Amino acid sequence: MTIGVDDDESAFSRLEDGKGLEESWLRICARLKGEVGEVEYRTWLTKIALGPIDGDEITLLLPTRFLRDWVRSQYGDRLSELWNQEIPSIRRVELQVARAGDPAPIPLEDIPNASAATPAQEEATPAARTAPEVRSDLVTALDSRFTFDTFVVGKPNEFAYACARRVAEKPSSVGFNPLFLYGGVGLGKTHLMHAIGAELIQRGNVSVAYMSAEKFMYRFIAAIRSQSTIEFKEQLRSVDVLMIDDLQFLIGKDNTQEEFFHTFNALVDAGRQIVVSADKSPSDLSGLEDRLRTRLGCGMVADIHATTFELRISILEAKAAASGVVVPGKVLEFLAHKITSNVRELEGALNRLIAHANLFGRPVTLEATQEVLHDILKAHDRRVTIEEIQKKVAEHWNIRLTDMSSARRARNVARPRQVAMYLAKQLTSRSLPEIGRKFGNRDHTTVMHAVNRVTELMGLDAAFAEDVELLRRMLES
Ligand code: ADP
Ligand code: MG
Repeated sequence: MTIGVDDDESAFSRLEDGKGLEESWLRICARLKGEVGEVEYRTWLTKIALGPIDGDEITLLLPTRFLRDWVRSQYGDRLSELWNQEIPSIRRVELQVARAGDPAPIPLEDIPNASAATPAQEEATPAARTAPEVRSDLVTALDSRFTFDTFVVGKPNEFAYACARRVAEKPSSVGFNPLFLYGGVGLGKTHLMHAIGAELIQRGNVSVAYMSAEKFMYRFIAAIRSQSTIEFKEQLRSVDVLMIDDLQFLIGKDNTQEEFFHTFNALVDAGRQIVVSADKSPSDLSGLEDRLRTRLGCGMVADIHATTFELRISILEAKAAASGVVVPGKVLEFLAHKITSNVRELEGALNRLIAHANLFGRPVTLEATQEVLHDILKAHDRRVTIEEIQKKVAEHWNIRLTDMSSARRARNVARPRQVAMYLAKQLTSRSLPEIGRKFGNRDHTTVMHAVNRVTELMGLDAAFAEDVELLRRMLES
């Protein structure tokens, strides 16, 4: 698999090694700062500089013996761990007293705050799984499991999927550049981007660069530090397809945004394809510069909606089939019902079941599922109250809260009431009679009718379905 962007590979990796190291070091500093807090970091760690690497050992430099000994005793193990996570071949960290002319530490103000989200970790996993054949800092190894074949298509993602396919088949076509994919976490954005990459590479003869926006920033800062921004820019601008994942990370990172904007323009002007993902639409990404948002929205904007029950079932079926373990339909239904947050969690739950079944050689049953997934299910136990549901729904359709229990039957009141009953059934563990009582002592058959009616309407009216889904998400969060 050739996913490099440079022909002269040997020169490239030599050049890149130094920068890769700087970048890793910057990331480790950011992690450490996040872990120990800024005050402690400034007191003890801000003076460490990056020394040379020799085989499995990396040297870090400190200005005095005292500091060296202190850092060794207090942070030595953690530093080794962090280096090993960054670069698995590094097994030891050697702390030495710096001499005149040794490199300087990274100034505290240049060290980014570790992000609350975990894109770096997310990225580390696929990279670790697939053997990196080409060592290029522009490319994160694509996860070979994330292809179009393994992506299950349903209503919530069919448009995004179609756009992604289109771009993979015909990069840079008019109207599809940039392709902007957005949606909540764990809904398949990264999967689709990797799928585009894999498809393009399979078709051959294009250079593809994929990286998270976070990685982009680290690369950019490291390039500035090692005075190689020109090479960095040239490399970026030499690719045919540039994919940047989780762009929301650049909010508030003005310099990096600026750099991305220029790269973006240069590539689009040169007829290259850009694919970007984010958790919100371009217009909702407040905190991104206006001109960047405008350009991002100029091509094709495709969102991935929250999963529906049907899609969750299809995904579970596909993944269960691929695993070779027989998972009964009612277990799949149970999971699809209970774990509605996102595909990642759904997948995690199923994987755990499958691992369990393989380990103990026992068939998967509903009882076993409840036992094995006890903690996950508990976390997903919805603790929403019927009162909260009524309040939110009433606010949403602008009716009085008292109308939730009133006898009024006008459509503009009755419909929201039905939605509230539907949500009460979905989100709480209350029985139909209990729900009925909370809605002005209505009969349980009325509640049942409401649930059926709302389900039916959601199938017929997409806008209505979206409203209900939105309410559900608000209540669940
Ligand atoms: P995002 O980048 O939107 O946060 P990911 O692409 O990382 O989400 O998806 C999370 C997990 O869910 C991945 O393992 C991915 O393969 C899986 N996944 C998401 N959507 C689908 C889908 N439609 N079909 C199959 N797997 C999916
Ligand atoms: Mg992602």
